[in-house]
Amino acid sequence: MLNTRSILVTGSNRGIGLEFIRQLSEKSNRPEWIFATCRDPEGPRAQELRNLAAKHQGIEIIQLEVNDPSSILAAAAKVTEHLQGAGLNLLINNAGILRPSTLESETPEVMTEVYKNNVIGPMMVTQAFLPLLRKASQESPQKGMSCSKAAIVNMSSEGGSIANLLIWHVGHFINYRCSKAALNMLTRCQALELAEDEILCIALHPGWVQTDMGGSVGQAPMTVDASVQAILNTLGHLSEKDNGTFVNWEGTVVPW
Ligand code: NDP
Repeated sequence: MLNTRSILVTGSNRGIGLEFIRQLSEKSNRPEWIFATCRDPEGPRAQELRNLAAKHQGIEIIQLEVNDPSSILAAAAKVTEHLQGAGLNLLINNAGILRPSTLESETPEVMTEVYKNNVIGPMMVTQAFLPLLRKASQESPQKGMSCSKAAIVNMSSEGGSIANLLIWHVGHFINYRCSKAALNMLTRCQALELAEDEILCIALHPGWVQTDMGGSVGQAPMTVDASVQAILNTLGHLSEKDNGTFVNWEGTVVPW
């Protein structure tokens, strides 16, 4: 079972990210610190998140724009302060974007924008939070690897699977597919590099989920509630044998 002391989610003001915060804050063994990050904590798009934080103790809303290095560093400094010497157990790189496109309509500008959000952003966020993840791993009495000890979860997509190309018939989304394939490679590299620190790294496909993004491309079959419930269950079961793999919401391996 997932039993973390601290967790941080990017893009947590709506969709899958918001649902993570909701379900985590309602768990009986809920984390002591839930860092809900979003790019505009005071704006109208964070209203639901603010309501949630008003209802539950321990949800810290922190500004984090994954495209902005200074925002990421400021967020890491704030989280470090809150943790008062403790480490961060679980980082969920959830924020992401998709822009409708085909091979012929794709532009360098859109491709760059999506890479910045979906690949470079998670890379920078992980760099900034690495000292806290290492600390969590070092201070944990647990042997081996787990999401309760120290882990990075990169929210990927089966749409970026070179073998499966999920829902190609629905849309080509070149920028998105390429960005998630790159995020998968980043995950593999992180897993190899951080194994010695016993920080578990996985790429995770949440399913085709009824969110703004999931709904924008067609009739998504899965509710956000069901997806996040399954993901939290899966995260509770991952160990070192899963390090550097690409799994779906149920923990089933997805081919690269
Ligand atoms: P949504 O579009 O519903 O939500 C995206 C979230 O990411 C929002 O909170 C948004 O914030 C945030 N975000 C986007 N760009 C940035 C940025 N530059 N900095 C900070 N936050 C940002 O998406 P989902 O909840 O559906 O998706 C979550 C993750 O799951 C994504 O990585 C997505 O690729 C992945 N995924 C989703 C699938 C689905 O079917 N829904 C399928 C496969 C993967 P804001 O409100 O400020 O825009």
